[in-house]
Amino acid sequence: MMSDDDGARTGVHDATATSDGAMPDDDALVCADDPAAFGPPEDSYQRLWTPHRMVYIGGQDKPSDATEQQCPFCRIPRGDDEQGLVVARGRRCYVVLNLYPYNSGHLMVLPYRHVSDYTDLDEAETAELAAMTQTAMRVSRAVHAPAGFNLGINQGEVAGAGIAAHLHQHVVPRWTGDANFLPIVARTKSLPELLADTRRKLADAWPASP
Ligand SMILES: [Zn+2]
Repeated sequence: MMSDDDGARTGVHDATATSDGAMPDDDALVCADDPAAFGPPEDSYQRLWTPHRMVYIGGQDKPSDATEQQCPFCRIPRGDDEQGLVVARGRRCYVVLNLYPYNSGHLMVLPYRHVSDYTDLDEAETAELAAMTQTAMRVSRAVHAPAGFNLGINQGEVAGAGIAAHLHQHVVPRWTGDANFLPIVARTKSLPELLADTRRKLADAWPASP
């Protein structure tokens, strides 16, 4: 487990800014530091710095209104799984990786239907959302072996919903030590695995029926 002290010695390494201040595309933003250059010698962690994701805080990619036409969660299932980071598709709900994860393997389970409130779900959607949430936990355990999870639905922007118009249940794997000083002091999350790789592993491990 990384202590605050271990982490403090690594400093924050911003490898993403370009000379003109523009943000390069996603592929160019990835920088895995040489572990030998940072931290104590026995520390075998690789570090991936992705401060560009903090643009999300500023509202980038947020829909301009609450309509179905503007909704990324309505658009995603119409495309292919790899592009949309879709992990599994059910009859009424689907599972997708969060593009702005709190942790590696941060999944969302959501209905295809554009509804905002948990009470808007019909009986079948409620049952499938619950079943797919359970499957998401089982698959996550098999692939990433987290020590725990945070599950939850933020209802309304005031409650923290990034896209409040389309209900989504978060499934966030947790590991001991994952909430170290870095998110608090540097407002940066370190994510050891690329989203495309995470998606493939989870999709491959997903059972045939939810
Ligand atoms: Zn929608």
